[in-house]
Amino acid sequence: MLTVYNTLARKKENFVPLIENEVRMYVCGPTVYDFFHIGNARSFVNSDFIRRYLEYKGYKVNFVMNLTDIDDKIIKKANEEKITASEIAKKYSAAFLDDINLLGIKKATLYPKATEHIGEIIEMIDKLIKNGFAYNIDGNVFYDVKKFKGYGTLSGKNIEELESGSRVEINESKINPLDFSLWKKAKENEPFWESPWGKGRPGWHIECSAMSCKHLGESFDIHAGGSDLIFPHHENEIAQSEAATGKSFVKYWLHFGFLNINEEKMSKSLGNFFTARDILKIYNAETLRLFFSQTHYASQLNFSDELLNASKKGLEKIETLIERLEQKMDEDKFSNSENNFKFDNYYKSFESAMDDDFNTPQAVAVIFDFTRDANKYLSEDNITKEFLLNAKEFLKKTAQEVLGIINLDKKKNNESNLEAELIELMIRLRVEAKQNKNFFLADQIRDELKKLGVILQDTKERTTYKKT
Ligand code: AMP
Ligand code: ZN
Repeated sequence: MLTVYNTLARKKENFVPLIENEVRMYVCGPTVYDFFHIGNARSFVNSDFIRRYLEYKGYKVNFVMNLTDIDDKIIKKANEEKITASEIAKKYSAAFLDDINLLGIKKATLYPKATEHIGEIIEMIDKLIKNGFAYNIDGNVFYDVKKFKGYGTLSGKNIEELESGSRVEINESKINPLDFSLWKKAKENEPFWESPWGKGRPGWHIECSAMSCKHLGESFDIHAGGSDLIFPHHENEIAQSEAATGKSFVKYWLHFGFLNINEEKMSKSLGNFFTARDILKIYNAETLRLFFSQTHYASQLNFSDELLNASKKGLEKIETLIERLEQKMDEDKFSNSENNFKFDNYYKSFESAMDDDFNTPQAVAVIFDFTRDANKYLSEDNITKEFLLNAKEFLKKTAQEVLGIINLDKKKNNESNLEAELIELMIRLRVEAKQNKNFFLADQIRDELKKLGVILQDTKERTTYKKT
C-alpha cells in the first residue's frame, strides 16, 4: 500500500485516489522569466519521480504543471531587455520545456499558461466576490482572508500568528494585511486584460486555482510544489478554490525540500544559483537525477560537487553491470540450468521503499544491492539467457522507468553515442523551431534527417527516431 506524507494532515496517510486507478496531480511550475536553476530542477525532478512511480503502480496519471507567464518579474525583465512581457514569457517557456526534456523529465499531460486562462480566472474571482469572499477597491480585487474559516490550516497557523509573523504585501487599501490580490489594476505601460473591475491582470495565486479546477476538476488528488509555497501560495489556493466551489480542494498536499548551497536555499534573488542547463554541461541528466534521488524529496539537500561526483561513480557501477550483461548476451553461450536468482525479492524491496512515501534513497540502495549481487552472479559459469533478460528488465523497470537514472536505449560506444546525441540535438532544434512556429525549418530538419536514413516519429510524449 502506498503511503504519502500529507502536509495537510501532518502525517503519512494511505494513498487512495478519488477515482479508482486514476491520479490527478497538479504541480506549481515556473515563472518564466529566466532559465531555471537546479533548485527548481530538484523540485521538478522530484515531481517526476512521484508521477513515474504512480504510473509504475498502474495508475493513469493526469499530470498538470502550470507556467506562470504574467507576473511582476516578467514585466521587470521585459523592461530591462526592452521587449514585451509576452516575448520574455515565450522565450523562457521554450527554454523551460527544453531543459526539463534534457533532465529526462516526462512531459506533463498539460502545461497550462495563465495568460490563456484569463476568462476562467475572471469567472472565479467573480464567484468569490458574489460569495462574499472578495472585495474590489478601485480596480484592485482582494481576497478577504477573515471570511474563510479554514485559513491557516495547511501551514498550521492561525490568522493572528500569520499577521504578526509573515512578510505580507503592504497596501493601505486592504482590509487586513493578509488579504491578497486576486486582480491587480494595470499600472502605466503594463500588459493588461479587460475585466469587470477594469484593465488589469491576475494575481499569482488565483491562476493555480482557476487552472487546476479547469483541467483537473474542483477536487483532485495531489497538489505539489516546493515547501516555500506552503504559505502563502498553497494556503491561498485552498481559500480561493474552496470558497468558490464549496468543495474540498485537494486530498494530498506534498512539499519538496530545498536544494541548498552552503546551507542556504538556492534562489534567484540571493544570486547563489547555477542554471540547470549549465550544470548539465558538467554532469549528465542521469547523474543529476541519481544525486537528487539519493535524498528523500521532503528533506533538504546541500549542493556539492563531491556528492555529485559520488553519484557519478555510483552510476558507473550500474553501467558496468549493464555492459557485462550485454557482453554475455552477445557471447550467446548460455547455460540450461535453473535460474535461481531471486528477482522477486528486489522488486519487493524496491516497491516497499517507494510505497513508503516515495523513499527514493532506499529504492536506489535496492538498485545498488541488486547491482552488486547480479555482478557477483555473473561471475559464475551457469548464466542463463533468462537471467540476462530479467536483470535488464529489472533495471529498465526501476532505474530507467521510475528513477530515470539510466538509459538503456543509449548506444554503447562513444562513436555511436555521438551520433545519437547529434540526432537528439536535431530533434531538440526541431522542437524549438515548432515552438517558434517555424514549421518550414521543422519540416526541413525532418526531411533532411530522412535523407540520412533517420526517421522521426512524433508521439504525444516526445519525438523518437528509428534508423532505416
Ligand atoms: P519559481 O519559478 O521560483 O516559482 O519556482 C518553481 C518551483 O521550484 C517551485 O515549486 C519552488 O518551490 C521550487 N524551488 C525554488 N527554489 C528551490 C530550491 N532551492 N530547492 C527546491 N525547490 C525550489
Ligand atoms: Zn501554484
